[in-house]
Amino acid sequence: MRVTTRALNLHTRHPFVISRAGSRAFHNLLVEVEWDGLVGRGEAAPESFYGETAATVPVAVGVLTEEWGDDPFAVEGITVGWEKRLKGHPAAKAALEMALHDLVGQRVGLPLYRFWGLNPASAPMTSFTIGIDETARMVEKVQEAADFPLLKVKLGTDRDEEIIRSIREVTDRPIRVDANTAWTPKEAVEKLHALEPYALELVEQPVAAGDLEGLRYIRDRVKVPIIVDESVRRAEDIPRLVGYVDGINIKLMKSGGLREALRMIHVARAHGLRVMLGSMIESSLANTAAAHLAALVDYVDLDGHLLIENDPFRGLRVDRGRLVLPDRPGLGVEPRT
Ligand code: MG
Repeated sequence: MRVTTRALNLHTRHPFVISRAGSRAFHNLLVEVEWDGLVGRGEAAPESFYGETAATVPVAVGVLTEEWGDDPFAVEGITVGWEKRLKGHPAAKAALEMALHDLVGQRVGLPLYRFWGLNPASAPMTSFTIGIDETARMVEKVQEAADFPLLKVKLGTDRDEEIIRSIREVTDRPIRVDANTAWTPKEAVEKLHALEPYALELVEQPVAAGDLEGLRYIRDRVKVPIIVDESVRRAEDIPRLVGYVDGINIKLMKSGGLREALRMIHVARAHGLRVMLGSMIESSLANTAAAHLAALVDYVDLDGHLLIENDPFRGLRVDRGRLVLPDRPGLGVEPRT
């Protein structure tokens, strides 16, 4: 199997701002694996928060594909070997593993969800993300996103209550909020009490990733379900979260691929946790790959490709919040012409 890695520079329509960072330019990478006349594609969206950059991904891809054989169907053995060979680097691993699944699906002539026995029509609707901006701009963005029945609002500012109050004045759609680790436990409780009148559906990652006691402190004092994102990367992180949170947000760029995401779904279920499937700022390629698993989760947040203006691929469509997967084999993603 021959691998090539190249830059996939994405630009968002608006600056995408969360509590700890903001940008319009996202330096993702496209990984292509050629095998037996087929091309499998994968995408890496490296995040410095998880120790990766656009420079580390090609290096990691090189290490991971040394002597990796010539059989994309051997994906379990290949990926088990990766964990021994190179710790971390989940986005690089996700891109390669996505490309292998694309090859396998193309070879058997089935979309990945069919291969896994899943019905994409039973997937929950995706939320649409409103990044941090001036309050009036955030309200405008909510109005522009009238076609999306669910909203996810980024918080972690000194005017969080004003933001949600102003958005609530213009819409009765369900609102999820994501503080991206910005609050202290005490602050989180105060803010979530102040936000109670606005009927939030859930809150994502109120406090620092490692602050389990903080999560328990909040959960003992507020009614809104707590979902963690930065606190969980792989299946092995899940058992210690039991009793502290209501659910987890799974992303391919944290788990290192589709197979680990699938394991995480089952581990979370076994522990009675709810499951969200999310994404970084990614093109249609990585978001489509994740969407193949969407029928197995409770909440979907796969709108990253809708926020960018130069998506080079065609795959997953979103119709009024409903995911529409292509029925082509493999990931079903093709370059835009
Ligand atoms: Mg999040």
